[in-house]
Amino acid sequence: MSALKISNLSKTYANGVKALNGITLDIPIGLFGLLGPNGAGKSTLMRTLATLQVADAGSIYLGPLNVLEEKQEIRKVLGYLPQEFGLYPKITAEDLLHHLAILKGITHKGTRKALVQELLHKTNLYEKKKHYLGSFSGGMKQRFGIAQALLSNPKLLIVDEPTAGLDPMERNRFYNLLSALGEDTIVILSTHIVEDVKELCPEMAIINQGKVLMKGNPITAMEELNGRLYQKSIPKNELEDYKTAFHVIADKYYLGQPVISILSDIDPGDGFVAIAAGLEELYFSHIQTK
Ligand code: ADP
Repeated sequence: MSALKISNLSKTYANGVKALNGITLDIPIGLFGLLGPNGAGKSTLMRTLATLQVADAGSIYLGPLNVLEEKQEIRKVLGYLPQEFGLYPKITAEDLLHHLAILKGITHKGTRKALVQELLHKTNLYEKKKHYLGSFSGGMKQRFGIAQALLSNPKLLIVDEPTAGLDPMERNRFYNLLSALGEDTIVILSTHIVEDVKELCPEMAIINQGKVLMKGNPITAMEELNGRLYQKSIPKNELEDYKTAFHVIADKYYLGQPVISILSDIDPGDGFVAIAAGLEELYFSHIQTK
């Protein structure tokens, strides 16, 4: 049973940009990766799920709840970490959580205290609870963002591009936190960073130009590319020729020389070697269509 059902969702902005163009996705409990380049429509989708924006057509159901109609009900079970959020610099993590909990209606002091302590532990911020938020690193701020999003014990947690600007250690810590939350919550992780989805999300979708290009299990999808993916190191001045002749999905430099990855149903020979698909190749095979 899918817990969140998005059907034929469309949105065109006043300037004519079709940000969502018939998105249909069934999202189960667990960590779900929504991967796409900048401008793909991820934030528009996240904001619509978070009841902050309206769609032109389509429907979204969280279990029996109609997300587009029953906004107040949805907000009670929703946690949202937007792409950018401000924090008051001169307040401690603990004090702000208490303050936000009061705003959420958790007025019983004992209950609130227990909840705030639990969230500080969960997000690994307990040791820093007396520190001003202004002194927090990028990773600590993001974890605080999760702590505040968890105040309402959400059934649906939406995190929009959370790892931009985090160093590898902070990123790892953040992944672990999201993985733990995915055990009993729908966690949607929107990102343009392939690395974020790798090994983390049992279910994912790739979107671009407001459309779903691929959905499913990343490992199965990668396996489907096997036998069709080839790589070759080529001279710099031949890159354009190769792009004309082959379906080049990625080119990157290795020791100063371009290495191209191509998709081909037959063995191209000519010095190309077969390679196994990684998530990056899967992503580029959908984004770079010929
Ligand atoms: P992503 O989060 O994947 O980068 P967005 O949902 O932010 O994508 O944007 C999708 C498209 O819609 C882009 O072309 C963007 O320029 C456009 N867009 C986003 N917000 C607005 C807006 N408020 N008004 C007009 N166009 C917008």
